[in-house]
Amino acid sequence: MAADQAILDLRQRLPADRIVTDPSELFVYEADGFTIAHARPAAVVFPTSTDEVQQIVRVLAQHDVQIVPRGSGTGLTGGCVAFANGVIISTVRMDRILKIDLENRVAHVQAGVRNTALSEAVAKLPLDLVPPVSSPAESHTCCQRPQPPAISLATPATNPYHFAPDPSSQRASTIGGNAATNAGGIHTLKDFVSSNHVLGMELVLADGSVVQVGGRDGSYDGGTFDLQGLVCGSEGTLGIITSVWVRLVPKAASFRTIVATFRTSADACHTISEIIAGGHLPSAMEMLDGQMVQTIEDAFAFGFPRESAALLLIEIDGIDALLEEQNRVIAEIANRHHAIGVESSADPERRTQLWKVRKSAFGAIGRISYSYCTQDACVPRSRLAEVLMKIDRIGKEYGLSIPNVFHAGDGNVHPIFLYDERDERQVQNILEAAEKILEYCVDIGGTITGEHGVGVEKIHLMQYMFDGPSMDQFASMRHAFDPEERINAGKLLPSAKVRVCLLKPAIHTS
Ligand SMILES: Cc1cc2nc3c(=O)[nH]c(=O)nc-3n(C[C@H](O)[C@H](O)[C@H](O)COP(=O)(O)OP(=O)(O)OC[C@H]3O[C@@H](n4cnc5c(N)ncnc54)[C@H](O)[C@@H]3O)c2cc1C
Repeated sequence: MAADQAILDLRQRLPADRIVTDPSELFVYEADGFTIAHARPAAVVFPTSTDEVQQIVRVLAQHDVQIVPRGSGTGLTGGCVAFANGVIISTVRMDRILKIDLENRVAHVQAGVRNTALSEAVAKLPLDLVPPVSSPAESHTCCQRPQPPAISLATPATNPYHFAPDPSSQRASTIGGNAATNAGGIHTLKDFVSSNHVLGMELVLADGSVVQVGGRDGSYDGGTFDLQGLVCGSEGTLGIITSVWVRLVPKAASFRTIVATFRTSADACHTISEIIAGGHLPSAMEMLDGQMVQTIEDAFAFGFPRESAALLLIEIDGIDALLEEQNRVIAEIANRHHAIGVESSADPERRTQLWKVRKSAFGAIGRISYSYCTQDACVPRSRLAEVLMKIDRIGKEYGLSIPNVFHAGDGNVHPIFLYDERDERQVQNILEAAEKILEYCVDIGGTITGEHGVGVEKIHLMQYMFDGPSMDQFASMRHAFDPEERINAGKLLPSAKVRVCLLKPAIHTS
């Protein structure tokens, strides 16, 4: 009822094409990439400016309707699903790049700009706009947070700047969504996560006020509260991000891509540990387990040995003269750990082919399972081998197939649960198995999320990971922004207002 009245009020303020209420259209907005959590929103509204977001929030707050921010809906934890008859505020029409300032290496974008759209726009700028690349020490010395390194001192042949965070969803996901989830990606190992690239944000709060956190016009705000750091990863629970100032960093000039296959995943994991312990910093270090290798071979016949129990895909970048030696050392480490084969390439075409192995993984999974669900946890890298064994054991216990493709360099595991969503028993089994895996990861010093966030999927595990006083502190922090829990209640932090329970233990039969 409250939502109906709010929608009538919104219709008076916004053009007709900015509000969707037709059930057949709302169907698209019932879930994100984690389709187990779904609910039909009362409406989806599409503002184009901060002013409009402000108006919409005021109307929804007046009628006490839950407000759910949404970017492209590629999230993997049900974070942008509108439970409790809430209204979704979608940022996809807030897709203007407001400023690209190469001299200061920053850009200012509306929240709905797609991740790759910014880098594509930057790449089109002429080279003479690009200042010389400086060493890391020259830039932003006053900043407190870790700095993404300026990678290469070589003269670039093309405009080298880009927005570095590279979630695999980057063609679709928005920069507002990346900031809200603190997204990482394949190159997080060297480039860090989104919060390291967000300099400031504009935010509409639950009462409709507009605040700015972080630096203005991309300058640093290093000496005060790190509020933009707080908003990064808050999953839409603190306000609606309407624009973001981001850092632009140079891409490296030279690369090597190395692929190594192994007969045991332990050998691959020991290779990872030794590479990191040896002081090397690859820009990416991805791993596919044996089941994944079989699956991609069945689908695409890349030609990797069928007996491989693990495949490592490693990228190193930087100054060409140094790469050969680093390449040699990494190959030597892999061979010392009994690699079946090691190939490395500097040729752009071959490198693209080798990366296809990783990028084809999810497509290949689509061939073998009706549904799949990607889990996300982080563990100390030195424990990766035992975590993979534990995942395998839990999979067997529940009769589940769980291949793994993940950001091994960060210890960020992604067990992929294969199941059939039409069978409720299977759904409950994967939820229960996921819970056991995540608890194990916490028990050995890891976390319940490396990059996908908590959303509704893992909300019941927050108390497993954090003690009472810490949870209370999180709640106080959230209430400082949104005392009545009007925005995205029941996500990330438990809420008395909106409770979603996906796991029904009674249904499980092993
Ligand atoms: C195939 C695939 C691969 C993926 N790979 C990665 C990966 O490598 N790394 C990674 O980190 N993630 C990955 N993801 C997860 C997802 O893409 C990221 O979490 C991404 O940052 C979400 O962006 P989005 O615009 O789709 O946000 P949505 O899914 O729309 O929203 C995600 C969360 O952010 C909130 N939110 C969105 N926009 C705003 C805003 N403007 N203001 C406030 N809150 C907001 C929502 O309420 C929700 O809680 C992947 C997903 C898929 C489907």
